[in-house]
Amino acid sequence: MATTLPFDTRLLFIAGEWREAASGETLALENPSDGSELAHIARGMSADVDAAVAAARHALDGEWGRMSATERGRILAIMGRKVLEQVDVLARLEALDVGKPLKQARADAIALARYLEFYAGAADKVHGETLPYQSGFTVLTLREPHGVTGHIVPWNYPMQIVGRSVGAALAMGNACVLKPAEEACLSVLAFARIAHEAGLPAGALNVVPGLGEEAGAALSGHPGVAHLSFTGSVATGALVQAAAAKNAVPVTLELGGKSPQVVFADADLDAALPYLVNAGIQNAGQTCSAASRILVERKAYDAVLARMSERYRALRVGPALADLDVGPVISRRQLGIVSHYLGVARDTGLQIAAQGEIAADAPASGHYVRPTLVAGVADTHMLAQEEIFGPVQVLMPFDGEAEAIRIANGTPFGLIAGVWTRDGARQLRMARALKCGQVFVNNYGAGGGVELPFGGVKRSGHGREKGFEALYGFSTLKTIAIHHG
Ligand code: NAD
Repeated sequence: MATTLPFDTRLLFIAGEWREAASGETLALENPSDGSELAHIARGMSADVDAAVAAARHALDGEWGRMSATERGRILAIMGRKVLEQVDVLARLEALDVGKPLKQARADAIALARYLEFYAGAADKVHGETLPYQSGFTVLTLREPHGVTGHIVPWNYPMQIVGRSVGAALAMGNACVLKPAEEACLSVLAFARIAHEAGLPAGALNVVPGLGEEAGAALSGHPGVAHLSFTGSVATGALVQAAAAKNAVPVTLELGGKSPQVVFADADLDAALPYLVNAGIQNAGQTCSAASRILVERKAYDAVLARMSERYRALRVGPALADLDVGPVISRRQLGIVSHYLGVARDTGLQIAAQGEIAADAPASGHYVRPTLVAGVADTHMLAQEEIFGPVQVLMPFDGEAEAIRIANGTPFGLIAGVWTRDGARQLRMARALKCGQVFVNNYGAGGGVELPFGGVKRSGHGREKGFEALYGFSTLKTIAIHHG
């Protein structure tokens, strides 16, 4: 049965208006829970990106560019309120589109509101400095917007990623061109409607759905774009950075991860357990900061294995709207990738310690995979090195701090890490030794952490989003030296 959606999804949003793609073409969106066709979206291409960049430029030259930081913050606050009023609508769209259980989609919608609230309050609190200089001079710095900013986002957390990136960019007075993912973007279209209703001036936010190699590539190489924020895979991030380099445009890259949680034998296992498992299976493991590696001190290894296995066996997988523990993965292709890794685990003699169950009534045409805990994995094995992007966690024993650090840092990635120990000195030694952008001690993820700067090192990317730090990334510093004698 066709799903009824609350608006016409086939349009793109440029200069405050909903219009068809210049080509008139659309792309089909699939419902991952049952494989049915969910909707059609516009197939934006370079002509649409040109129009969107021109609209953004026009907004900067007009009402949006003249608006004070306080007024921008006020509009963001209204957007945040409207998101909260529409949490249920947004959550249902995200659940249908991404396949995530309804309660997770709801949490994402609330996080979107929280980003807007945070950046609403922060908009008029970013300021420059006066600098001591030679006598006869007054020197000051100004934080200015880049201008037109491009935002390329993936399908796994559309609302959260749009909130953190567009929220901060608008707060600083940039005008945004947003290219959502072709696999899932309904909540992003709904967000643009909310922005418009909230009074965001035409052209301050433009949304051009389309294929990565068409709309995405056109945006990353566009000479009218002054800054790019990309969230997605390492391979695509490298393409975006190369395209931006041709125009000498700065890029923030939020890429993949193979994040560890390191559990020492003195840890409070009761407190750790829910974080160890949830951080691996949330959004069916399709989370950049998923804790896909669990490192356990050998003395506690059997206990952690037993308790995680018990939790895994209780996990239930099913359609997003059934709101179980785990939903489907995004596509048949993604299901193939995860199944391939599980095949490798079996073929190379790894121990499949425990698996969750797919609900008996889950549609056979949905993209379901059993969450899987794999034990006794050597740190050099591909399951311990590569980002799987599915509900698969590997468990590895270690002996002592030095080995924990070596294994934790021993992948090409460095996004986030968790450390579980009651020893205060060890907490600090570990936090300093781990090579990544965020370390959580005796927790993992801190409930999303809108306020906390986020981003990676190594192949996990560079630049920081979230928190105040994002406002510096979405602005440029001008120094003014006045000689007055
Ligand atoms: P992807 O790189 O395939 O796609 C991401 C976006 O890039 C999409 O909008 C896509 O259309 C666009 N794109 C594709 N080809 C392009 C091109 N040639 N030029 C410009 N844009 C192009 O990534 P994905 O598979 O959709 O997402 C999964 C990856 O994203 C994982 O590696 C995951 O770890 C990462 N991710 C990172 C974060 C983070 O904050 N660090 C958050 C979510 C996802």
